[in-house]
Amino acid sequence: MTSSSPAAGKQPAPTSPLPTESAHSLSPNTAPTTGHRAPVRTGHCPCGHISYQVSGIPDDPHLCSCERDTRVSGGPAVLWVGFPKDSLIWTGSGGEPKWWYPYPTLRCGFCPDCGSQLVSIADDSDMAMVTGFSLADQSGIEPLGHSFREHAVPWMHITLAPAPAPDPGP
Ligand SMILES: [Zn+2]
Repeated sequence: MTSSSPAAGKQPAPTSPLPTESAHSLSPNTAPTTGHRAPVRTGHCPCGHISYQVSGIPDDPHLCSCERDTRVSGGPAVLWVGFPKDSLIWTGSGGEPKWWYPYPTLRCGFCPDCGSQLVSIADDSDMAMVTGFSLADQSGIEPLGHSFREHAVPWMHITLAPAPAPDPGP
């Protein structure tokens, strides 16, 4: 009997909390917590019909190679990054994107004109995940992780960003 992949027994669990919920500690908590100083970032689809803005510290930037993301994007992975859900504002002429529901509790927004996926929002998360490459300013969103890496094509080689260093101490 040949052994299967070590990841074979690991099944996605749609009913468990999203990984974004546990990733807040990845960001060094050095930002001021008072006032409204969260930097604003803007994003848009290629045709410009749908535009948005978000603010806050980028949360859990990661690649995902799940089947849905590869089929939707036509590429081997999608770069996602979270921002507070209540900071998301649709600023373009098209207003809100068109919504697609892969699950009843998860909606994905895409441009009805050019079809680009821009955002993914889970009902039970405080974060809106936006596609990293729809952002105008992509600084600070190098991926820290790669979800469904075991599903990624074998020719895909990724160098993840180094995890934020803990306090080095004396
Ligand atoms: Zn568009």
